[in-house]
Amino acid sequence: MSYGVADTASRSQGHSAPCSNRDFDFHYEGLEAGRLLVQQCVHCGTLRNPPGPACPSCQSFAWKALALRGTGTIFSWTVHFHPPLRGFEMPHSVALVEMDEGLRVVGAMDGVKTPLDIGMRVRTEFMRRGAVAGFRFVPAGD
Ligand code: ZN
Repeated sequence: MSYGVADTASRSQGHSAPCSNRDFDFHYEGLEAGRLLVQQCVHCGTLRNPPGPACPSCQSFAWKALALRGTGTIFSWTVHFHPPLRGFEMPHSVALVEMDEGLRVVGAMDGVKTPLDIGMRVRTEFMRRGAVAGFRFVPAGD
């Protein structure tokens, strides 16, 4: 699935796909392929998430996509009550996960009972939320 500019107009007419722009498109294309992609600066190697146009460490615009292993530990969590989100049961838990590669990623943990444990090991599970490829964190069970 492509999230090119041509798709933006159709999604704004009621489709549930996340917003699309040149910084985020690679991330959603990765999810379609079952990969959790983040940006890595080509100049200094810094990983960044959420995506952005420039490296926060060296300001380089050159980056490549890096697939994370998908495992990490819960750094913090909360419960999302509002607004309603298509493809999610409400309310649902959301975790800020310290990935094993050292950067943090926000992801839903819908279907996992709260309270969540800080430091709990989690893994990434890829799934679809309606027509959109998505991911959530689930207990690693290791
Ligand atoms: Zn850099």
